[in-house]
Amino acid sequence: MNIFLGLDIGGTTVKAALVTESGEILHKHEFPTNANAGLDDFCERTYQALSLGVKESGCSLQDVRGVGVGIPGPVDLNTGTVIEAVNLGWTNVPVVKLLKDRLGLPVALENDANVAALGEAWRGAGSGSESALCVVVGTGVGGGIVLNGHLYRGAHGGAGEIGHLMVLRDGPLCNCGNHGCLETLASATAIIREAKNAQTRGEIPANRVISGAQDVFALADAGNLAARKVITDAAEWLGYGLGLAACTLNPEVIVLGGGVSRAKDALLLPVREAFARYVFPVIRDDSRIELATLGNDAGVIGSARLIAQQVGA
Ligand SMILES: [Zn+2]
Repeated sequence: MNIFLGLDIGGTTVKAALVTESGEILHKHEFPTNANAGLDDFCERTYQALSLGVKESGCSLQDVRGVGVGIPGPVDLNTGTVIEAVNLGWTNVPVVKLLKDRLGLPVALENDANVAALGEAWRGAGSGSESALCVVVGTGVGGGIVLNGHLYRGAHGGAGEIGHLMVLRDGPLCNCGNHGCLETLASATAIIREAKNAQTRGEIPANRVISGAQDVFALADAGNLAARKVITDAAEWLGYGLGLAACTLNPEVIVLGGGVSRAKDALLLPVREAFARYVFPVIRDDSRIELATLGNDAGVIGSARLIAQQVGA
């Protein structure tokens, strides 16, 4: 049996899973990232997570063929280095070499949005499709492209960054320095900002706490018209942006994930409706939009798939 260790490294916790070559999770474990403790400590705790997984799942260490790692930041695949991961305080860290030395296994590295896309395309909502655009709608809007089962990274890993499609000239300022990027209009951050503006105008009761997009969805669900408009506008921009992306890629499936997608049909249905109106009619019916199905497991499953592809298992 071929087994792979998939790691999904976040600012607070590391998710580690032993995944079979067919995508079944044998064992899952989480440990604190504790990036301040240093890289030796991180490698040691990763080794312990691997040992624990092997022991508790009853498999053999010899069955583990490699390790895939998803990182919250840009990576250099040529050198196996994390260029910068702000949440971890890592700059130019040679993660592939460090983990290879400690674990004695092949290691593959990738940006976390890309491995999550690979996971969803392989075993989630994109399962069975040749091409998938996976979009994460959370604090920002990120994404990844999978073609014929493999990640499409573009020249430097920037492919699929549809959050920075400029959809509104002179729109709100984006973290990237441009104005009017999709994520300034369709992310959780945008939804919260617009709901608070409506609250300032007196259209949402002043005593309602708006700390997340889910608060705005709840207000909309309860019949608040201003909250409904905020959601409709965000969904409209998302459908519009996905329409632009679909004209370039014509993916079989567009997968919506991330915190905002937890609103399920309250997001999915208006996005589908807007997409159908904006997209090139010839390809309208070719690209279906679906909600992500793997949740927090997308990263570890995608990381495992990545290393499986690299070692040819
Ligand atoms: Zn931007």
